[in-house]
Amino acid sequence: MTAVAVGAILLAFGSRSGAAAQSQSRSSVTVSLPPAATDKIYGSPLARGRPIVVIDAGHGGRDPGAISVSGEVSEKDLTLALARELRDDLLKDGRVRVAMTRNDDRYLTLDQRAAVARRLNAGMFVSLHIDSAPNPLARGATVYSLSDVASDAEAARLAESENRGSADDASDGSVEAMLSDLAMQSQMSASADLAARLVNKSAGRFELRPNPHRFAAFHVLRRADAPAVLFEAGYISNADDEVLLRSPEQRTKIAHALAQAIETDIAARAHR
Ligand SMILES: [Zn+2]
Repeated sequence: MTAVAVGAILLAFGSRSGAAAQSQSRSSVTVSLPPAATDKIYGSPLARGRPIVVIDAGHGGRDPGAISVSGEVSEKDLTLALARELRDDLLKDGRVRVAMTRNDDRYLTLDQRAAVARRLNAGMFVSLHIDSAPNPLARGATVYSLSDVASDAEAARLAESENRGSADDASDGSVEAMLSDLAMQSQMSASADLAARLVNKSAGRFELRPNPHRFAAFHVLRRADAPAVLFEAGYISNADDEVLLRSPEQRTKIAHALAQAIETDIAARAHR
């Protein structure tokens, strides 16, 4: 009887200290396991105190993501190039500060990516990817925001594949458990607003897919604890899109549309 009581006390204590460690990890680094992702914040002195936008270049290291139709380039290289172009565009205007989950060719789990946004108390999380499909004619960009129910079968399949792409090793679920349903609903709704702005700013500037704003249950978005979208810039399984996405001029155009949408969204939420 006594042993059971002691066990219960230990369990209660264990879960409390677990929660404390979790909330502490927002501002400090776990001693035993330093984060593989970078917490470097980019921004001019004028941008001091401005919201932080975390740009997440999808894949990296031993996870190349999709391979282009020519076989010459992989998703992880193009997402990093686009991430740097987006960072530079945002820094020019000085309305936000920027962090990048990676600025080189390294492997990160989905939770390591989202944890950057949580540690920095980011105002936004934007994950960049390049799509791939068996149909070589599929092309154009798509913006995904988080939902428990996918908008269509293709979105569900994509989320499944991105979620598997860099599966987490341990400690899943802790963050979801901490966010109340209400907080999650408001995060999803803010993310949908951001996705709508991204579509608006992109329309007419580069190729978008039909119904370009879609929904699915992406782990990396759920864990960011901030308005979060996953942007698929086009299809590297399509020959025309591959040429466009490999062109720095074209990527700069995409980055500029993203930057404008991000700045508009941050400004709108500041005045709400
Ligand atoms: Zn991807």
